[in-house]
This record gives sequence, C-alpha cells and structure tokens, in this order.
Amino acid sequence: MTTPNAHRLAARVKLSEAHLITRMLNIADGLDDVIKLGRGDPDLDTPAHIVEAGRQALSDGATHYTHPAGIAPLREAIAAQIREHGGADYAADEILVTPGGQHGMFVIALSLLDPGDEIIVPCPGYNPYQQAAELSEAKVVKVPMGMETNFTLTAEMIRPHITARSKILVLINPNNPTGTVTAPEEVVKIAELAREHDLIVISDEIYAQLTFGNHRVQPVAALPGMRDRTITLSGFSKAYAMTGWRIGYLAGPRDLITPMTEINHAFAISVAGVSQHAALAAATGPQDCVAEMRGTYDARRRAICAGLDAIGMRYAEPQGGFYVYADVASLKLGIGAGAFCERLLAEGRVMMYPGTIYGDHTDDFVRMSMTQPVPRIEEAMARMAAVVAAIREE
Ligand code: PLP
Repeated sequence: MTTPNAHRLAARVKLSEAHLITRMLNIADGLDDVIKLGRGDPDLDTPAHIVEAGRQALSDGATHYTHPAGIAPLREAIAAQIREHGGADYAADEILVTPGGQHGMFVIALSLLDPGDEIIVPCPGYNPYQQAAELSEAKVVKVPMGMETNFTLTAEMIRPHITARSKILVLINPNNPTGTVTAPEEVVKIAELAREHDLIVISDEIYAQLTFGNHRVQPVAALPGMRDRTITLSGFSKAYAMTGWRIGYLAGPRDLITPMTEINHAFAISVAGVSQHAALAAATGPQDCVAEMRGTYDARRRAICAGLDAIGMRYAEPQGGFYVYADVASLKLGIGAGAFCERLLAEGRVMMYPGTIYGDHTDDFVRMSMTQPVPRIEEAMARMAAVVAAIREE
C-alpha cells in the first residue's frame, strides 16, 4: 500500500504551458520528415577551433572540479570580451561561470528574491525567469508588449508596474521569443527608471552578438550609475552554437557575484572543465565564426519573412536573436496559435511554438526559430501555406 505522500509533487510544481513543448516533441517523434523550427538550438556546428580546444583540454586532464566561479583565464577572457563589446569594466572575480545562462536565472532568483518581492518581466519573454522567481516565492509582474512597439519594452510601459515591493527588472535584449531589439535610447530611459526606483536590472544579453542591419544592443551595465545595480546574463550557447556544452555566465558587482558563487557552488559545484576550456577558445579565438553565423541567420530571417509575406501573415520585425514572432490571428482562420501549431505539425510536419509558452496572453502568436537551412525554411513556409489554405477551405 502506498502512503499519501508517495506520489505527491510539491505544491510549486505546476503543469505549465511548457508541457506543450514536450507534447509537441512527442508528436514530432512519431512523424517522418518534420521541419523543426521549434527549439532555440542552432543546427550549426560549434566552430572547429572551439571543439578542438575542448578535445585538447580533455587530453590535458581537465576532468576535475574547477574553482566554483570558473577557471581564472576564462573569467578574465569574459571580462575582456564584455569590455570590447562596450560593456562595463569587470574584474575576474566579478564574473561567475554557470552551467548555461538558464542556470544563472535560478542563481539570481535564489540569491536576490525573498517571498513577496516583485520581479518585473517582459511579456512575452523567456519563461524560465518566471519559473525561477516562483521558486523564490516572488511575485512575477508581467509587462505586456504588443505590435505597437514591435514587442519591445519602453520605460513608460514599465513605470505603472513599479510598486514599493519591486526589486528586479528583467530586460531581455534581443528578446526571446519575439526576436526584437530595444533601441539604445530606450535602454537609457529604462536604466534611468531603474535608478529612480532603486531596481536591480537583470540584463539578458545572450543574443547581443546576433543582431541584424543597424540594430545593436546597448549593454545596460555600461550606462551611468548602472554597473553596481545590474547583473548581465549571457553565455556561449547562441553566438558560438554551443548549446550542448552548457556554459554561460553572470557579470556583476562583487558584492552580488560573491554570494551568487556560493549558491552556484551548492547547485553545480563548478562547470565542466572541458566546456570552460572550449569557451575560453570561443572568447579569445577568431571571431569571424560569429559574423558568419550572423550572416547565416540573416539569410534565414529573410526567407521566413518572404514566406510570411507570401502567406499574408503579420509578424514583429525580427531584429536580433534567431526568432520570428508571427501573428496567427492576422490570418483570420478562426483558430488560436496553439491549435494552429498542432495542425501545422500533424498536417504539415512543421514544428513551431505558440507564444503562450512565453507568457503571451493572447494565443495569437507563434515563434519560429531560424534553426534550419534556407531551403528547409522555404519548404516549411510552402507547407505552412498549404495548411493555411486547407483550414480556409473547411
Ligand atoms: N536567455 C535567453 C533569452 C534564452 O533564450 C536562453 C535559451 O534559449 C537562455 C538565456 C539560456 O541559454 P543557455 O542556458 O543555453 O546559456
């Protein structure tokens, strides 16, 4: 006989929208020739010199725990790279290497948030920020964004959501799932607001090296008065196609990074040495691989936009990262984005995710990842056009 507690989950475990992802992945597994524009995992290989550095590190015995904040040369290289990209000036002990940027979100939440504290997040936005905050029993305050601002935050949109309990403001730039960039002059205004209301800013700049055209990212921590109230979250997954190496970092003032290092130690001890040596090669080696990937994503972005234009589907202008956020409601099919994604997968064998996964309250939008080569994207867009036509004929 089982006791009542034998199979009980903790109260905080909620069946969230994220389960949709698992359901769609399960459906896709049972189908042939699915074009996957779902996950934010580049199909591109990690550049050869980075893989080689990892291989060499293994041969040299990098098979042990390291310093809990990461090997010193990597932390120095990250600090140098942040400076080169116009970010703040950090010492090596103001960098914390984490097993992926996502892990960093939980380190931040557990280090900074008490029950009842409020954390302001963009909506739609990358959902683990919310999950991490909920683990700390903080209150998640969502700032809804829409097409009016091309799905980017403005200081004036944030202002009404600030209360006496507001502690953290999350800025994701470029944003996931919308692929949009907050303009530098708006970042300046948001930073002023954060100073005015004594907020800590978590600036997620993991896609900052992947922007298109004239769009560029203003690092928050480099703005006047922001260095000591900003934690920059970033990593190697996106710009260097290193998702599977599980390595990211937090950069911030010593008085925050030192306790965060202790929390990180409790959770992870340290990041795999092999990944740290590979990341060191990524940060210090030739950067033309990043420019090349940027060009690749730019071509894919154009292919997706051309396909959407042909179908007559509205979308947020994709300015950075590798996502296009498109409006199913603009097709007037009479079905929501969730149902559209399921039909597209079952009938068109194309996978993309509904925006509700990322907090969008409308069930109108879908996120498409630019994680397939142009010919496959073109094929995906043709299949999508056929599914749209079939729904219209019903
Ligand atoms: N931040 C954003 C906005 C992301 O989209 C992701 C992954 O998709 C991450 C952080 C985490 O990436 P990783 O844990 O691979 O470093």
